[in-house]
Amino acid sequence: MNEFALIDTFFKSFTHDRDDVVFGIGDDAACLQIATGKQLLVSCDTLVAGVHFLDDWDAYDIACKAVAVNVSDMAAMGASPCWLTLALTLPDCNPPWLKRFSQGLADSLNHFNIALVGGDTTRGPLSITLTIHGQVPSNKAVRRSGANAGDKIYVSGELGAAAQAVAFLARIDLDHADKAILMAKLLHPTPRIDLNHCLQTFASAAIDISDGLSADLSHICAASNVGACLMLAGIPVHPLVKKYQGVNAIDFALSGGDDYELCFTVPPAQEEGFKAALAQARLTCYPIGIIESQPGLRVQEISGTVVSLNVRGYSHF
Ligand code: ADP
Ligand code: MG
Repeated sequence: MNEFALIDTFFKSFTHDRDDVVFGIGDDAACLQIATGKQLLVSCDTLVAGVHFLDDWDAYDIACKAVAVNVSDMAAMGASPCWLTLALTLPDCNPPWLKRFSQGLADSLNHFNIALVGGDTTRGPLSITLTIHGQVPSNKAVRRSGANAGDKIYVSGELGAAAQAVAFLARIDLDHADKAILMAKLLHPTPRIDLNHCLQTFASAAIDISDGLSADLSHICAASNVGACLMLAGIPVHPLVKKYQGVNAIDFALSGGDDYELCFTVPPAQEEGFKAALAQARLTCYPIGIIESQPGLRVQEISGTVVSLNVRGYSHF
């Protein structure tokens, strides 16, 4: 199968429900209509075999994960995902793999109402680059740089499960049900676009937790020129991480990546409105600390002692 037959067979047939795609796959560029009063957000993420996924993973799951991490970048900005391009580098033409991959991609894109509008297909070591395009009401995008001393720090869900899944990848002796739950967290994270409205309206800064809470919060602090103090007791740790890590569970929550929950800050004046909006939307977020003017990250231990926190998270280099 040549490059063009491959595109026709596995990607050109994608359907979508969006009337803002003037035209998509098939021309030298796609043409998209941005809504009045909205701004365009663009982000891309690459997944490399052996780094972000293992060769023996089901290509369906790889596609779902690739979409989820890209949608999560939109969620972190308070934006709605709309359109996607796919740059696919394949070692060979493997129709069964491509069928699973394109099925996972189609199902994920349908779930989020995202249109596949183009891409590029090349031969080389397996790698998948998605570029996602989203929209947000003008000037409502939530950036990393908006946090101020006194803002409360929140996370949107329990942390550590994806890191626990990675730690258990080689453990075939493990209780099957627990491993399945953890692998689902790693392979099918839930990007938090359900928080779009709350973030746009109330948050001063936000980031998605891809590299680990401490590493990602430190990006907010650096961009905002502030520091932070976390209350250890307030950090929500996934119950299975507690089960398997005991006293080390908090380290998984602080340093483990791949959870794709959001970490964000809310100014004191917005606190009441934020809580009411969360309750209205039947969502739960966890207050975990406070932004401070002193640079660096600190943690208040259960005993009340405040110690400085070594930032550890995933870095490619
Ligand atoms: P060009 O040579 O102009 O870059 P290509 O021949 O690479 O165009 O692609 C033809 C069409 O198919 C383009 O519209 C392109 O966006 C689309 N396309 C190529 N690869 C993919 C892919 N993996 N997924 C979706 N669309 C793709
Ligand atoms: Mg091309």
